[in-house]
Amino acid sequence: MCPEVALEVLDSLLLEPFFVMETALKSPCDEQHPQQAEDLHRSLEQSSKLSAGVKKDIEKLYEAVPQLVNVFKIKEKIGEGTFSSVYLATAQLQTGYEEKMALKHLIPTSHPLRIAAELQCLTVAGGQDNVMGVKYCFRKNDHVVIVMPYLEHESFLDILNSLSFEEVREYMFNLFKALRRIHHFGIVHRDVKPSNFLYNRQLKKYALVDFGLAQGTLDTKIELLKTAHSEDQQEDSVHHSVQRSVFGERNFNVYSSTYQDSTSTKLIKQSKMIDVSSRKLVTKKKIISTKTVSNGAARKAASGCPLNLLCDCYATDRVCSVCLSRRQQVAPRAGTPGFRAPEVLTKCPTQTTAIDMWSAGIIFLSLLSGRYPFFKASDDLTALAQIMTVRGSRETIQAARTFGKSVVCTQVVPTQNLRTLCEKLRGTNSSCKRSQGEGTSRSENSTAFPAAADKHLQNFQEGDSALEMKATDMKGWDLVPDEAYDLLDKLLDLNPATRITAKEALLHPFFKDIRL
Ligand code: ADP
Ligand code: MG
Ligand code: ZN
Repeated sequence: MCPEVALEVLDSLLLEPFFVMETALKSPCDEQHPQQAEDLHRSLEQSSKLSAGVKKDIEKLYEAVPQLVNVFKIKEKIGEGTFSSVYLATAQLQTGYEEKMALKHLIPTSHPLRIAAELQCLTVAGGQDNVMGVKYCFRKNDHVVIVMPYLEHESFLDILNSLSFEEVREYMFNLFKALRRIHHFGIVHRDVKPSNFLYNRQLKKYALVDFGLAQGTLDTKIELLKTAHSEDQQEDSVHHSVQRSVFGERNFNVYSSTYQDSTSTKLIKQSKMIDVSSRKLVTKKKIISTKTVSNGAARKAASGCPLNLLCDCYATDRVCSVCLSRRQQVAPRAGTPGFRAPEVLTKCPTQTTAIDMWSAGIIFLSLLSGRYPFFKASDDLTALAQIMTVRGSRETIQAARTFGKSVVCTQVVPTQNLRTLCEKLRGTNSSCKRSQGEGTSRSENSTAFPAAADKHLQNFQEGDSALEMKATDMKGWDLVPDEAYDLLDKLLDLNPATRITAKEALLHPFFKDIRL
């Protein structure tokens, strides 16, 4: 689709919300505001809190999209990313009531289909079940502004260590509600992380935002998303795209190649060795070296690679010149490294809604351990190595094989017990519990946990008031039931085919009797 046609598609999407705006808000035709621009400058000057840079950005936005001037008072900048700036604004409603709104100004280089896809997610899935909705949309030339209801929210890092266990349970429940909603429409968010899941602690309100990377997986439901996806793919294979694209980032550490099998038309992809031996790991200060060999045909990978796929650098930590000249495997990999699922990190070409569930698991891991960000990696292989330190290297290698990737790792790292890990990091480990008078002498060994936790859960569910009172000191963190770690384990399932879905997660015993 050429950009002009794409723009028309976009406009057809924009028309409807635009008319809604004309009727709901004070229209510029109702009253003449000859002094509007001057008023605007004055009001901007009055708000002395704004930095000179932000003031300038707001003025530029009014200039770029003049329709905004008559409708919105832009108050401040609340978000600034690579692909957009988000502003808090108020709109004067005809009723006289002022409503707070969030204005998302997309970078002018965004592909129209990408913008259309983002809008489509908001209009199709948004507005209920904790998925942010869209109110209006404006476009002038290449500038697009998406107007959403404003939800005041906390900074995840600020509140992480003051949240009660019950608040964490509610947070996760509401996140799964949002994910069930979008996954129902076949939408993969691709960038699930705390800054894209707004949380108003006081109002207990939640909103999944930022569909800037979202993709459709169902043929019937979200056509545009599918189109945007394949357009991105085409662009990426032709030239280095500077637009926001699901394939926009390239991993220079992974060398892969595409072969055309002579006997069949099936593409067999192989990516080559990567040396991450100098990269440090988060949880253990151990150094491991990871090599990735990917193979598009899972069965072939499992039964040993056909000879013609091997070269002399196979299973070594070098990349030979033959491999260097091979084309990179193209697979969606946008998002934030620390939240990427193993199948994304290994460039698995078929990715499903399961990738969002992995990211939700990473959020849950942060909430249970009190550490954010949990994984911090600047590249995919470091991220994969970090996952291995929690989920085990053998387990990771085995799971990767199921989706056609073979990972070579020079060091074996064991899988960790999730409860032990989280309690250690949070500082609520068994020794801490004992000092709280928990009685029985438990060993540090993780196998000693389940029985005691069952007892806690029972009390917890019966709502024993004395116990609840005691729990407030620890905010419930001394009573984390096994169900929490069971759910975490199912979210951080290395195999996307068996990973728990949002629908299943909501029915998990962890959420039994949730008070909402
Ligand atoms: P980006 O693609 O730049 O990450 P987002 O849609 O995630 O854009 O928005 C960036 C930030 O702006 C969010 O993390 C959030 O803090 C704020 N934000 C976005 N939408 C809203 C909204 N509807 N209400 C309140 N704040 C919002
Ligand atoms: Mg975002
Ligand atoms: Zn080679």
